[in-house]
Amino acid sequence: MNIELQCCALFIIFTIFVMFMREKKLDLMNRKLFQRAIYACFACLTFDILSVILINMSVHTGFDGRITSIVCKFYIMLLVLQGYFGYVYASTSLLPIDKTWAKAARITYHIIFIIGEILMLVLPIGYTAEGRIVYSFGPSTSVAYVLSAIYIISTIITTLVYRKQIPGRRFTAMMLWQGIWLIAAAIQFIEPELLLVGFASSFGMVILYIQLENPSEYIDGTTGLFTTHALSAYVHDKYKFGKRFSMFTAKIHYMTSFVDYNMEQAAVMRTAKALVSLGPEPAFRIDDDTFCVLYDNKERMFERAANIKTQKDGVKDLPAKGTYLLIPDSKLMSGPDEFFRFLHTYLERDQEILIADEEMLQTLRDHSRTKELIDEALREDRVEVFYQPFYNVRWARFNVAEALVRIRKTNGEIVMPGEFIPVAEETGQILPLGVRVFEKVCQFLARGEAEKYGLEQIEVNVSAAQFDNDNPADFIMDHLEQYKIDPGLINLEITETAAGENRDIMLKNMESLMKKGVTFSLDDFGTGRSNIDYFVNMPVNNIKFDYTFTKGFFDNDKIKPVLSGMVDILHKMNMNVVAEGIETEDQMLEMTDMGVEYIQGFYYSKPVPEEEFIEFLKKTNTSDHS
Ligand code: C2E
Ligand code: MG
Ligand code: MG
Repeated sequence: MNIELQCCALFIIFTIFVMFMREKKLDLMNRKLFQRAIYACFACLTFDILSVILINMSVHTGFDGRITSIVCKFYIMLLVLQGYFGYVYASTSLLPIDKTWAKAARITYHIIFIIGEILMLVLPIGYTAEGRIVYSFGPSTSVAYVLSAIYIISTIITTLVYRKQIPGRRFTAMMLWQGIWLIAAAIQFIEPELLLVGFASSFGMVILYIQLENPSEYIDGTTGLFTTHALSAYVHDKYKFGKRFSMFTAKIHYMTSFVDYNMEQAAVMRTAKALVSLGPEPAFRIDDDTFCVLYDNKERMFERAANIKTQKDGVKDLPAKGTYLLIPDSKLMSGPDEFFRFLHTYLERDQEILIADEEMLQTLRDHSRTKELIDEALREDRVEVFYQPFYNVRWARFNVAEALVRIRKTNGEIVMPGEFIPVAEETGQILPLGVRVFEKVCQFLARGEAEKYGLEQIEVNVSAAQFDNDNPADFIMDHLEQYKIDPGLINLEITETAAGENRDIMLKNMESLMKKGVTFSLDDFGTGRSNIDYFVNMPVNNIKFDYTFTKGFFDNDKIKPVLSGMVDILHKMNMNVVAEGIETEDQMLEMTDMGVEYIQGFYYSKPVPEEEFIEFLKKTNTSDHS
């Protein structure tokens, strides 16, 4: 009989079924649909074999033909069910869940399926058996062919339309699965005695299993917990189907306390066991040292988390130190992308316990918006540099200015650096931003106008990240050479934090620039970002008293002697002092009395755009201003 292929296919599908059922599984929609497809494939093959046997018996031994017809009909009905499940598998993961047209498509395909099944059941079916040639035919079988073709072609088209949304591997697997089926059905349609469809469907299941539904990809080899890949699929699934969840995340600080690799692995294993022993909820290892467990609701999560805390204090399973991030309700975030951004951002914080709330999310959203703002400004050339002059007390003119970055919004509004510099430092955008600012300063100096009206130096702020091993001072020299600018025209303002984190690298960069003639100032002095022990060993020419520090001079009598004493010390060390934030004539006079070299503040000028700044220099430096 012509059933060797089918038996072989049945064996394959059985093996996949056993392997699939034995593995630890996540409650994913795709998984459920795949499981359903396996059941359908299994039932279809069984009826395929049974129908071949019964057709032979009816033709050759006079077995009751009605039973054979019913079995043949069940076989083709199950065949269409498989095709339908294939389409459901593809469309559920690819089509949007909430769009009306997608819902309409789903219902239409469902109705077509039900009508088709009824038609197959009521329409007549015939069968034949001559030697190895065994097959069914007639109107009922024709309906099966048409419906199978509709489902297979729809699945292929849906996959093709959404190919950009899915990973290449998923695309290939889906196309192979459906393609093999389509070819087998076409061959069987032309040569009905070649019973390939049953085998092709089980072969398709093998491809799906290996490429897409292989649970081993979702399991971490060391701990047996689910992987970060699994978490991503799980969280996407939950958001897509509108299911809320709560999440407990623990970032364990092993690395500092364990030097031995084996001990570290043992600690990882203990953590995994501790998490698994907490309950049946799925536990994930999302990084070497980061674990999480997902719960259906926050009550359950808090109850379990409290349990972890007891274990932690008992120092049995979880190591004592860690960052614990609890997300009580996934609804807080708008979707999986924001959820993961939240997770990554807040796991970096060194706080012990963080519970996600609106405020944390708002900070994250502001942060993302600012990041976008900087990117756009860089792309669309909306980064601007304003200049604020310093009054040189001894020479009674404005010979230095500070370059201060601004972002101009598309509506013309100005965004101040306080709003975006901290974000740029965190995201690394400070590098392209810093280069852009420096470029603008060079272009400005290259015009030669500022120099013509008495400007001798421009001070440019630099952040820590602009000078590290990977980003040496080269970009400064490159630009100065490109625009043929004398390095002596540039003074770089650094802060204690800028140099503090990587002092040696900073010093190396400073030395190489100083050799070329660039000078340095220490910014933000008096804010706690700069200390006396710090600048003693720092090759800076100027110290800039921060706005808040100078303000203290006028507000608090106790600060006066500190400040003037400071000025004396700095002078003894051959440094110049710049007083920032001078807003009134009285303040200017007091600072002049104290003997500072430069005065910067709104009293003289706010930071202004290039042209306004040139006008300012023209007006003040060419007249007898004193
Ligand atoms: P900073 O370097 O200490 O700059 C001085 C700040 O004090 C400027 O604020 C300036 O407008 C302000 N200021 C000057 N005089 C007065 C005054 O009389 N009254 C008041 N209330 N404020 C005064 P701005 O432009 O908002 O810059 C803020 C900070 O942003 C800067 O502080 C600097 O740390 C950073 N920044 C600005 N441009 C850049 C840049 O290109 N790169 C980097 N890395 N940081 C920059
Ligand atoms: Mg500054
Ligand atoms: Mg400053």
